[in-house]
Amino acid sequence: MRYVVGIDVGGTNLVVGTVAEDGSELLGLVSEPTFSEQGADAVVARIVKLAQASMAEARGKEIAGIGIGSPGPLDTKTGVVLLTPNLGWTNMPLRDRIGDALGLPATLDNDANCAIFGEWWRGAARGARHVVGLTIGTGIGGGIVLDGDIYHGVSDIAGELGHMSIDSNGRRCKCGNYGCLEAYASGPAIASRAIEGVAAGYDTALPKYVNGDLTKITAQVVYEAAHDGDAFALEVVRDTATFLGAGVANIVNIFNPEVVVICGGVTLAGAKLFVPLRSEVRRRAFKPAVEVCRIVPGELPGTAGVYGAAAVFIRRTWGSV
Ligand SMILES: [Zn+2]
Repeated sequence: MRYVVGIDVGGTNLVVGTVAEDGSELLGLVSEPTFSEQGADAVVARIVKLAQASMAEARGKEIAGIGIGSPGPLDTKTGVVLLTPNLGWTNMPLRDRIGDALGLPATLDNDANCAIFGEWWRGAARGARHVVGLTIGTGIGGGIVLDGDIYHGVSDIAGELGHMSIDSNGRRCKCGNYGCLEAYASGPAIASRAIEGVAAGYDTALPKYVNGDLTKITAQVVYEAAHDGDAFALEVVRDTATFLGAGVANIVNIFNPEVVVICGGVTLAGAKLFVPLRSEVRRRAFKPAVEVCRIVPGELPGTAGVYGAAAVFIRRTWGSV
């Protein structure tokens, strides 16, 4: 059995693990903060150190290569990260810098593509043929898996599902466009909508959760208050389900997938999100597409990106996962 090191480069954390080629084992799972403010050289050095630590824990196994998932946009053919506002990188040859330092062949793909590919390989979408997913955190990423392979489009932009417009005159998004799904349903967007509601005088206990400091309201705080039965927090979660429902209905109508997998912190909202989300999608999308589609939370929080990055290497190097 061969093994592949999967590397998930995030804006906040780096996660690395060594994965068996059949996905049956994940060894040496290690993680550290990214500390991107220290610059690209320091981040690359930390990634290499983590990979070495992971491989040391997989001692005795044949390590055949490295799969890297990184925020983009990036070029999967040249292995260059073109631009990452969160990490501050421009034209960064990430694949070769890591591959050369470790003396192993490497592949590079978008982090959200990797997370959804991981959920398809080993998680909530196992066994499905066509899968589309969203990773919801600071932003909203997406991944499209068709017939067991990631769909990249012509220039590796396919799957930027967080930037589909759901309101052509809507909120401004960090990408410069208006009305993107991300501007409504990312973690910070959920928090912003809650803070705006508190400031507008809605009756809610939310300020008590943050000792009156509204800037400390996060999406997690909103879910906590919703679980405690706060009516306004529940409304914020239901609105999130409505916005996400519009986005997922678009996905369902365009791709007719078997599974739509939703990953990230938003899944902490549980049934309070997924029940209204599914009914919103039923209301908006074509019935024959809705009937065959499961809308489910991811099953590999923290490791989907590692599995998926390794799976990208396996798929591209050996032809199948
Ligand atoms: Zn956008």
